[in-house]
Amino acid sequence: MAFSREPAVSSHWMPSSFHKGAGAGMSSPKTCSFHRCADTSWAMLITVIPRSLRRPSAIPRGYDQVDPRTATRVPLGHELSGTNPVFDGDPPFAARVFATVPEAGYLVEQITSLGTHLGTHIDVPAHFVPGGARLSDLDESWTLMPLAVFDAPEPGRSITMDDVHAWERRWSPIPSGACVVLRTGHAQLFGTPEYSIQAAGFSADGVSWLFGTRRVRALGSDTFGPDTDSSFAATRTALEAGGVVLANLGPGLNRMRTHGDWISVNAPRPAFSGFPVGVTGFTVPAAAHRPPRADPATASPRPPTEAPPQGPSQ
Ligand SMILES: [Zn+2]
Repeated sequence: MAFSREPAVSSHWMPSSFHKGAGAGMSSPKTCSFHRCADTSWAMLITVIPRSLRRPSAIPRGYDQVDPRTATRVPLGHELSGTNPVFDGDPPFAARVFATVPEAGYLVEQITSLGTHLGTHIDVPAHFVPGGARLSDLDESWTLMPLAVFDAPEPGRSITMDDVHAWERRWSPIPSGACVVLRTGHAQLFGTPEYSIQAAGFSADGVSWLFGTRRVRALGSDTFGPDTDSSFAATRTALEAGGVVLANLGPGLNRMRTHGDWISVNAPRPAFSGFPVGVTGFTVPAAAHRPPRADPATASPRPPTEAPPQGPSQ
């Protein structure tokens, strides 16, 4: 994420900041031999530091247009409520008012039923892997990730390795640590019977390659999960690789670009196999949603396939 386009070590900051601190006792800092030495030393240091190491961190190619300080922030979840769909047999959501302002001086609600895999939520390895990591075991790597969006093929079909290679030819190699999300359009059906209609998903071999070769961090979709059927092959493969899965992403996903945006996720960290999460997308203003130029060396001959953003800019 582009915290700054300036190099971490520039040829300006050290001499100028030093001058400000020392200027009170020096009528003409520029004539001071020490400062000339400092300027010369820093100039020499700049010369020997490779350009790639002058950045504050390694920003993946094509992901430096989004600055978190100025980015358009898009909610990517659904509101937790009693209308949230659940898998057959899973506990639904239910809550009651426990204390009120008129009676107690404060408002407190009590959740009386909550499955840990309800609504917009995260799956962690323990969900399918005996002894696997629980939410409380995770590091912070899933809280901010480069976002790679795949638009779904026809329902029931999987995102295959051919699709992954085509995506990379069009854009760039999927970054290490990325969150790879399938956009099916089902988010608009959330809370209706149609939401359970089979959508597209990821193939297990595609997921295995994404985690094993590209070292992505997360998989996700705007459906019950990134699977084509109840074998849960994609989810299982992701969790067995140590990854996490985001399920039931919201309609805000339609406002995210295919490539170049970021996603943040956070939640309480109980020692569970999953939990409802808050998800936020970081993108550029909608007016700037143009297909970025593909790398000429890897560009596909096909025309751009960027879908226009939907909904107003936030
Ligand atoms: Zn789940």
